[in-house]
Amino acid sequence: MIELRSDTFTLPTVGMRDAMFSAPLGDDVFGEDPTVNNLQVKVAELFGMENALFCPSGTMTNQIAISAHVSKGQEVICDELSHIYLYEGGGIMANAGASVKLLKGDLGRLSKDQIANAISPDDIHACESKLVSLENTVNKGGGSIYTSESLQEIADFCKHASIPLHLDGARIFNAMAASGQNPKQFGQWFDSISVCLSKGLGAPIGSVLLGSNDFIKKARRIRKRLGGGWRQAGLLAAAGIYALDNQVERLKDDHARATQIGLACEGLAWVSEVMPVTTNIVIIKLKDDIKASLKVAELDSLGIKCAPFGPQYIRFVTHLNFDDEALYKFIKIIKQ
Ligand SMILES: *Cc1c(COP(=O)(O)O)cnc(C)c1O
Repeated sequence: MIELRSDTFTLPTVGMRDAMFSAPLGDDVFGEDPTVNNLQVKVAELFGMENALFCPSGTMTNQIAISAHVSKGQEVICDELSHIYLYEGGGIMANAGASVKLLKGDLGRLSKDQIANAISPDDIHACESKLVSLENTVNKGGGSIYTSESLQEIADFCKHASIPLHLDGARIFNAMAASGQNPKQFGQWFDSISVCLSKGLGAPIGSVLLGSNDFIKKARRIRKRLGGGWRQAGLLAAAGIYALDNQVERLKDDHARATQIGLACEGLAWVSEVMPVTTNIVIIKLKDDIKASLKVAELDSLGIKCAPFGPQYIRFVTHLNFDDEALYKFIKIIKQ
């Protein structure tokens, strides 16, 4: 089977497994797992941020960040396609007790003007805007990315307005591979960043939350409350360190293969539109009379696993277990 449902299906490589089994371990609730500490220092230094916290999932890093920035009755501003809104189980409300103001961006990307116009006025009727959250790459936007100009404008605005700016950077390394931006720039633009190690980077589990010392101290308390205080997690942190050292450079290959998938889908009788491909995600729209669930089942029977992404859309995601051989096989099947 050709697996294109998600870049979370990647399996640890032999080198990664070796790194995991030889990692020095300790109890992370006591702050004594040397490998977890190494990972946290490594990622914080990479992004030029003060501190970091290793967590089980990107949902948890996002939810901790929201809870740390926003209190009950206040609001988060984000795009309507955001993972924090669509795919985190209503956590903005359930975990932070917060409201959400949804904006309609361009393929999930917000502009500075949209954000500026959305901030609530200083008025007792209004819900106080206390966080702006961006996603980069935007999953539901077909892996779209922000330009440096746009991020600089948004960051400048948020600093001036004294409103924290969070990044759901589940695929931030894909964004950097495609744009040429570097981690230090993101560290300057954002107050907090969630980075997934378990997506394109290929670790089996884990995300890192970045921020100031005060923010991470607060985040550590919230993580414990959520039951995310873990013990000899160095076994998993070692996979993350290995991924950062060995599996970042290759992301551009995933992007090249995604571009090939997009090209192969263009002009197919059952495809009405291919969303612009910039990173490792390809979203196609089906012709009106075709249901995504049926097409996905048909492709599955032909050896291709992909994900329905709404009633009329299908998503393909490339990753380190999808090589050129799989790509040629994919193209052959899809053309037939
Ligand atoms: C996958 C993903 C997350 C986090 O997902 P987990 O499965 O909880 O690790 C967050 N944001 C985006 C955009 C994602 O694609």
